[in-house]
Amino acid sequence: MFSTAFLDLPPLAGAAGSVQLPGSKSISNRVLLLAALSQGTTEVRDLLASDDTRVMLDALRQLGCGVEESGGGTVRITGLGSPHGARPRSPASLFMGNAGTAMRPLTAALALLGGEYELSGVPRMHERPIGDLVDALRQLGCRIDYLGNDGFPPLRIAHAAGVPPLQLAAPIRVRGDVSSQFLTALLMALPLAARQHDVVIEVVGELISKPYIRITLELLARFGIAVRHERWQRFTIPAGSSFQSPGLIHVEADASSASYFIAAGAIAAGATGQDGIKILGVGLDSIQGDIRFVEAAQAMGARITGGPNWLHIARGQWPLQAIDLDCNHIPDAAMTLAVMALYAQGTTVLRNIASWRVKETDRIAAMAAELRKLGATVKEGLDFIAVTPPASAADWRAAHIHTYDDHRVAMCFSLAAFNPAGLPVRIEDPQCVAKTFPDYFEALFQVAQAQAGSIPVICIDGPTASGKGTVAAAVARALGYHLLDSGALYRITALAASRAGLQIGPADEPRIAELARQLPVRFEGARVWLGDDEVTAAIRTEEAGMNASQVSALPAVRAALLALQHSFRRLPGLVADGRDMGTVIFPQAPLKIFLTASAECRAERRHRQLLSNGVSANIADLRAQLEARDARDSSRSVAPLKPAHDALVLDNSERTIDEIVAQVIAWWQARQPFGA
Ligand code: C5P
Repeated sequence: MFSTAFLDLPPLAGAAGSVQLPGSKSISNRVLLLAALSQGTTEVRDLLASDDTRVMLDALRQLGCGVEESGGGTVRITGLGSPHGARPRSPASLFMGNAGTAMRPLTAALALLGGEYELSGVPRMHERPIGDLVDALRQLGCRIDYLGNDGFPPLRIAHAAGVPPLQLAAPIRVRGDVSSQFLTALLMALPLAARQHDVVIEVVGELISKPYIRITLELLARFGIAVRHERWQRFTIPAGSSFQSPGLIHVEADASSASYFIAAGAIAAGATGQDGIKILGVGLDSIQGDIRFVEAAQAMGARITGGPNWLHIARGQWPLQAIDLDCNHIPDAAMTLAVMALYAQGTTVLRNIASWRVKETDRIAAMAAELRKLGATVKEGLDFIAVTPPASAADWRAAHIHTYDDHRVAMCFSLAAFNPAGLPVRIEDPQCVAKTFPDYFEALFQVAQAQAGSIPVICIDGPTASGKGTVAAAVARALGYHLLDSGALYRITALAASRAGLQIGPADEPRIAELARQLPVRFEGARVWLGDDEVTAAIRTEEAGMNASQVSALPAVRAALLALQHSFRRLPGLVADGRDMGTVIFPQAPLKIFLTASAECRAERRHRQLLSNGVSANIADLRAQLEARDARDSSRSVAPLKPAHDALVLDNSERTIDEIVAQVIAWWQARQPFGA
C-alpha cells in the first residue's frame, strides 16, 4: 500500500497482462457462514484477507467447524450440518471484533441452531444496533438477552435446552430501512427452520440496499436454497430447504474494483504480441449489480469477453465512443465512465446519479473539479455530469488530483495517466484506496506499461558514510518509489564470490562476473536474500565493504550487473544509490544528487553507528580509513568517485537527515509539471 502524501503516476503507454482482484468483503463472510451451515466440506477460494473475515473464521473454529487455511486465499470449511441437523459446540463465548457481517448473521444462525452463546465485540460494536434483528428472532420464540444496553451487543442466546418451539405460522416481520444486514441474517438462518413449512419474511418499510439482498439470494441459491420474493417486500423460504455445499466456491472480487481494469483494457493498447487485460476474480456471471458496467464499457468501445470468474478486455473502437447513459444501476462503477469519457469522441453524459452527492464526498462536484484540472470541459447538474474531453493532446494538463478521502476518486483518476500528451498525474493521499482495495496501485503497476525513459529515476551518490544510503531510502519512502542500493549488489557479489571459494581480485574476474550475471538476489524492505540465505547482516561488515570495493573495480563485474540494475527501474519510479548511477547506469536521470560531508563529520557518524552496533572504534583511525578509501575510490580508473556533471552537490555536514531529505524532495517537486 502507498502511504505517501501523494503518488506521481508517470505517463502510461499501455497495459497488458493479468490481474487478480481481492475478494469482496460482503461475499466473503456470507460464503463462510453458508459453508459452515452445510454438510461436508466446501473449498472457498479467493477469500478476502481482512479483519472481518478473520473474526468469522475464528468463531467458526470455536463452534466446531473444520477450518483449514492453505494460503493464497483458499480455505476449506467442513460444515456443522449433518443429516440430523447442525450441532455447534456450546456453550461458547464469541468475540466479533467490529465485524457487522459476522455479528448479525451468526446471531440469527446460532439462535436457530440451539445452544448457549455469548456474542460480544469491540466497544464500537457495542454501539452498533442489532435490536431489529433480535426483535424479529424473539417474535419467533427465541430467547436472547442483552448483556449491556438494550438493542445492542453484547448479547446472550439462551437455548441451552435446545431451540424452543418456533412461531412460524405468521410471517416474520423485520425492518428494512435501517440495515439490509438484518434481512440478510434472517434469510441465511431461517432455512434451518424451514423443514416442514414454508417460512415467510415480510419487510416493514422500504427495503434499502437491494443489490446486497440480491447477493444474499444468489449465494443462498448456490448453497441449494431457492428463496422466492415478491417486490422485495415478502420473501418465502420453501419447506424442505437444506444447505447443500457446492463443493467449491470462488469469492467474487468486488465488481466496482474491476471497473478500473476494464477501463484500462479499453483505453490502453498492449505492447506488440500482448493483447488486453485479463481480470481474475470476477466474471460475466457475477452476482453483483456493478457487473453491468461491462455493458457500458462495451458501448464506449471496449472488447470484452469472459467466463466464470474471469474477464478479458481489449481495445475495440478507438477513440472510445461517447455515451449518454442512465447510471442508476451502477452508481459506483459509473465514476469510472466519467474518466473513460476523457478518451471518447464527443460528450459523455451520465444521468440519474444524484446518489453521488451523498457518498464519501459530493462525487459530482469532485469529479467535475478534477476532470477540469486535466483539461476537460464539464457540465454538472443536480443528478448528472457531462464530460467533453480536451480537444487535442496539446490541451491536456498535468494535474494533481485531490481525492477527498474517497477511494473511488483515487482509483478512477489513475486512468488519466494513459493520456495522449504523455503527462504524469499526481494522486494525492493515495492510501485512501485502502477502504476496498489496499493494493490497487500495485495491481495497476502490474499491468500498466510505461516507456522506460518516462519512469523517473533520482540518483544519489557520494563518498562512503556521507549518509547517502539513509537519504536515498527516505526519499524513496516519501515518494513511494523503488530503491536500488547498488553498493549492496557489489557487497552481495563479493560475498557470493568468497562463498564460492573464488579469489577476490582480477585473477577470478570472469568467474565473479559470471556469478554477478545470475545473482539470485532479493530485497524485501531492509532485508536482503542471496538465494534462500538471508545475508542482511553478512554484507554489512567492514570486510564485506572492502571486498565489495575490490570486486567493484573489475570492469567485467560492473558490466555483468548492468541489466540487474536497469531492472530496478519500475513503476512508479526509482531512487538509485551508488557510485555510477548518474553517470553510467541512468545517465538521463532527471535529478542527480551528490551528497558530501567533511571527513571529520563522516568519521563521527561511522563511529556512532559502530557504537550503536556494539563495536568499539577509534575516530582518528576511522577518519584515516575513510580518507584512504576516498582517495582510492576517487583515483581509480573504473567508476571513480566523482559527481556526475549535472549533479547537484549537497553538503550535509551541518544538516540533519530530515533537512537533506526535504531539500531533495523540494528539488524534485520543482522539476514536476504540476501546478499549485
Ligand atoms: O555503498 P557501499 O559502501 O555499500 O558500496 C560498497 C562498495 O561498492 C563501495 O566501496 C564502492 O567502491 C562500490 N560501489 C561501486 N559502484 C556502485 C556502488 C558501490 O563501485 N554503484
